[in-house]
Amino acid sequence: MTVKAYGARAGDQTLESMNITRRTPGAHDVQIEIAYCGVCHSDIHQVRSEWAGTLYPCVPGHEIVGQVSAVGAHVSNFKPGELVGVGCIVDSCQHCADCDEGLENYCDHMIGTYNSPTPDAPGHTLGGYSEQIVVHERYVLRVRHPAAQLAAVAPLLCAGITTYSPLRHWKVGPGHKVGVAGIGGLGHMGIKLAYAMGAQVVAFTTSESKRKAALALGASEVVVSRNPDEMAAQAMSLDFILNTVAAPHDLDAFFALLKRDGTMALVGAPATPHPSPNVFNLITKRRSLAGSLIGGIPETQEMLDFCAGRGIVADIELIRADEINEAYDRMIRGDVKYRFVMENSTLAGTA
Ligand code: NAP
Ligand code: ZN
Repeated sequence: MTVKAYGARAGDQTLESMNITRRTPGAHDVQIEIAYCGVCHSDIHQVRSEWAGTLYPCVPGHEIVGQVSAVGAHVSNFKPGELVGVGCIVDSCQHCADCDEGLENYCDHMIGTYNSPTPDAPGHTLGGYSEQIVVHERYVLRVRHPAAQLAAVAPLLCAGITTYSPLRHWKVGPGHKVGVAGIGGLGHMGIKLAYAMGAQVVAFTTSESKRKAALALGASEVVVSRNPDEMAAQAMSLDFILNTVAAPHDLDAFFALLKRDGTMALVGAPATPHPSPNVFNLITKRRSLAGSLIGGIPETQEMLDFCAGRGIVADIELIRADEINEAYDRMIRGDVKYRFVMENSTLAGTA
């Protein structure tokens, strides 16, 4: 099947309309008519080959929601017409220790929704900036939010799970004071989720303009991280920091804010390394520096259900497919509150 998509033909080119093919659904496949796709900063890193190894044409997008349009003969869990989502993972080995534990995100053979090897044309996966996608049922998530919220559910498939998973892993909850650094797509979900889990949340931003808005997301305090006095006022007070910042920065400034035994988990994945941290900031208070990669399929479903039960969705700005290049420029300037979401029906009109 040929469908419309938006993608880049090289790292130094903007995204443009293109036709791609999707396989005919196999026995365990679900075909999805994509209604909306969120725009993650990873899409920008990947399209521009900032992490190296990008395969072209590159059709990004891993915050996919839509309606089942067809199912393979052996699919019993999904029916045409149902609302579903697909996140960052469309396949994995299905038999290693990580897959057995539902941690497909850590499988050595995890197949990403775009830029991973596949037998399908053109030899690597193509993501959600497209009209349809065909995915093995194991990697399809059920959306239980009302249909009217569908566009705002899309960012949960990456920004939601990438922040939910570390908050759960480090057992964030009542009695904890948690910092969320970088108030973009991931960070704004981190604030909403940590607050919903019962923690007291401090937002750290480089943008003075987000000071008021971050309070509305559930933060009890907002710190402009460029201001040393505001940073000093938080010294030794945080149990956990979720760092979503998409650019290299001084990690030591954040270690100083952790209590003894506190942890900072990095989820931001800048193109170039952070300056090396000072080890004394870790050893003197037994602090930990950690990382976390999206989340497994069962936990992604758990997160979607957690959010559906509490009415949690992302704060979004809808865009047409042909506005994607401008959206990237705005994200790089930090000019989005807080996630762009593509309306995929607008792909039909692109040429
Ligand atoms: P985003 O919406 O663009 O937000 C990133 C935020 O980082 C910005 O809003 C900004 O927040 C802060 N920032 C400070 N200085 C910056 C700079 N020089 N350049 C860019 N951002 C800067 O990005 P996102 O989609 O949330 O993604 C954040 C990072 O997480 C990206 O590196 C992405 O690739 C990565 N990621 C990782 C995973 C994972 O599994 N670990 C999953 C998804 C994404 P303030 O204005 O508040 O300072
Ligand atoms: Zn993402």
